[in-house]
Amino acid sequence: MKDIDWKNYGLETQAIRAGQHRTHEDEHSLPIFATSSYVFKNAEEASLRFTGQKPGNIYSRFTNPTVNAFQERLALMEGGERCLAFASGMAAILAVGMGLLKAGDHVVCSRGVFGNTVLLFQNYFGKFGVETDFVDLIDTAAWEVAIKPNTRFLFLETPSNPLIEIADIELLATIAHKHGCLLIVDNCFCTPVLQKPFALGADIVIHSATKYIDGQGRCVGGAVIASNEIIEKSIYPYLRTGGATMSPFNAWVFLSGLETLAVRMKAHCDSAFELAKWLEQCPAVSKIHYPGLVTHPQHELAKRQQSHFGGIVSFELHGGKEQAWKLIDATEMISITANLGDVKTTITHPATTTHGRLTPEVRELAGIKDGLVRISVGLESIEDIKRDLARGL
Ligand SMILES: *Cc1c(COP(=O)(O)O)cnc(C)c1O
Repeated sequence: MKDIDWKNYGLETQAIRAGQHRTHEDEHSLPIFATSSYVFKNAEEASLRFTGQKPGNIYSRFTNPTVNAFQERLALMEGGERCLAFASGMAAILAVGMGLLKAGDHVVCSRGVFGNTVLLFQNYFGKFGVETDFVDLIDTAAWEVAIKPNTRFLFLETPSNPLIEIADIELLATIAHKHGCLLIVDNCFCTPVLQKPFALGADIVIHSATKYIDGQGRCVGGAVIASNEIIEKSIYPYLRTGGATMSPFNAWVFLSGLETLAVRMKAHCDSAFELAKWLEQCPAVSKIHYPGLVTHPQHELAKRQQSHFGGIVSFELHGGKEQAWKLIDATEMISITANLGDVKTTITHPATTTHGRLTPEVRELAGIKDGLVRISVGLESIEDIKRDLARGL
């Protein structure tokens, strides 16, 4: 197999071909290396590999050829130096915390992040003496005010879930760096197809591969992408010791997911845009959150920062929770599940599911109304999706 520098190729090509190192069997498709350990030629080689003086595999908790292929491919697609895969998106976020934080450190995080991320920072990092302050994603001034001398990093998701608010990554990277902090972006909603946080100044990118990267709702996985230095010094040693490893089988599924990611994202975005425009006309809908609409407060920012507006649409109904549940229950085809990024359209009521553990006051502060419904627009016929929703509207 020719040794190609995939940096010179387009994202769609990297997604299909990068990271594969063909073996002596000349296989065309990437194999699954289902092996927990590796064999050394002799005792000396074993010793040299363990000390790191000689490169090569030792044990699949920390390196495996199938997982390596996924890491190499995703790093290239994000335009980052190195990627490490993890057992889940949460395991990836945990790894960043375990690798970078110590007791007495401080974190600033946006209020609208994934619910378990809030719990991880508050309850678990908090237990070990790391304090987290939560700020409004789009209130840039609040981010800067929240930074303290002991702040290690700023953490955000953009677009946010479920209100699809957009943060200015470039501006927040500048603020973070001015105060000697790192900026971490969870790029799960956009994927590298729609948004490249490193090009905007981010230091670390997080993925839940469970969502669009898999794209068909099969496996749970995650990734951390960062500079060689951050990975070598802080993340890899934790992976090797902490062991929240991605399995080779899951890496293999995610590798094939990446191969179709660009075409799927484009189709998700096109359908979501069409659905958003259709929902805007529905009398039962009081408010719609989709950055592709000119009425979205950060429409211009989204246009600048993303190559397309994404596959998630959320909207509020006049009738509150009762009407929201009625709409959800009236669907025939759409899956009632909190998962997203799937080829199947999914519908969820955030106030009583993903954000149900928050107190009503916190939920109100986060802007998650009782009439709010979130849809991850899938790749079924858009006419069928509209028809299914029309039943309860
Ligand atoms: C799902 C999700 C996570 C967590 O990922 P898992 O793979 O479920 O552990 C983190 N961030 C975002 C934005 C998510 O949607």
